[in-house]
Amino acid sequence: MGKPGQKVARVIDDYELEGLDETLVDLWTRDDSSRKSIRELADLVNAEIVSAVVGSELQGMTPMEYPPDRIATRLAARSSTDSRFEDVSQGDINEVTNWMESEGIDVDSLTNDFVTFGVVYDYLKNYHDAKASEKYRKSSSPEELKEKVTSRLDGLKEQVETVTKESNRSLENAGILQETNRTVTVDIRITCVNCGREYPAIEFVEANGCRACDDELTGPVTE
Ligand SMILES: [Zn+2]
Repeated sequence: MGKPGQKVARVIDDYELEGLDETLVDLWTRDDSSRKSIRELADLVNAEIVSAVVGSELQGMTPMEYPPDRIATRLAARSSTDSRFEDVSQGDINEVTNWMESEGIDVDSLTNDFVTFGVVYDYLKNYHDAKASEKYRKSSSPEELKEKVTSRLDGLKEQVETVTKESNRSLENAGILQETNRTVTVDIRITCVNCGREYPAIEFVEANGCRACDDELTGPVTE
């Protein structure tokens, strides 16, 4: 396993996304409102991957309703439990998956190459020594601090998934593990001891803690 963030370097290479590395650094270190969050950058990388595949496999031909970023969103939702995809229906996902497969595209290997925001964060740190702009660091805005924490958790999650997949594969090669299709999911969860509710760790941070207890504390006072 290479250093954290290596996956981004690999997909930039594999899909010949020339210049994307500089674009990522540039967009993340900007000092104004054109700055992109790590999450937006991960979406950008995945849309670029889809663009490259559509360009090489389909000569750029896609139906009007399927611009690369929309395809990428639907495919990312396919293997994610992230609440930001809750608007993407299973029907939407199937529609785009079936269409791509009918065009001869291996959707599984395509989505395996998708990057999560934690990996993009590691990539910018480890490969480009990039730091969020001075303005964002000095002010240490809550959003910046949260981005740092959630990116780190997401990066660790991805690393554990990779190690698990790789060790499964070596057991499989040694004939110890049966050869089957499998997916690996690492789930970090936080439980609010106060009310007993459980959340994915990243969602918990992004929501500024337990939503239920938060409502209780700040909600309308009843007589
Ligand atoms: Zn609670």
